[in-house]
Amino acid sequence: MARTAAGPIRLVMRALRLRCPQCGGRPVFVSWTAMLPNCPVCGFRFERGERGYWLGAYFFNLMAMETVFAVWIGGFLIATWPSPPWTLFETATVVLMLAVSVGFFPFSKTLFLAFDLWIRPASPEDFTAPAEAARLRPPSH
Ligand SMILES: [Zn+2]
Repeated sequence: MARTAAGPIRLVMRALRLRCPQCGGRPVFVSWTAMLPNCPVCGFRFERGERGYWLGAYFFNLMAMETVFAVWIGGFLIATWPSPPWTLFETATVVLMLAVSVGFFPFSKTLFLAFDLWIRPASPEDFTAPAEAARLRPPSH
């Protein structure tokens, strides 16, 4: 079981290959949008505790979209100035933004996990299966 801390570049490289940022194992996803609860290789639990954990991944996705949007606007206007075809611009922008948000979705999750692991290295609690964690807590009614 790989519990040693990896450097930020290694974490990001694993995330960009859609692998477990902790150990590099796979698969991490069962489909483009559905993530496994734990790494099948090292057992690392992807959702690390607190509610709203994936808000950081949404932020990464938003940053990717805004970066692509800024590059797209700049490139389009430079290429077509002084008479940009605005109808084409509007349509292409909508299609591009939808494609980026869906296409980047799994990467936003693995990249956020890599960032989180870099800031907050894995602890033994990160390797418990969801069922194990539920058994440890008394039932709350
Ligand atoms: Zn792993």
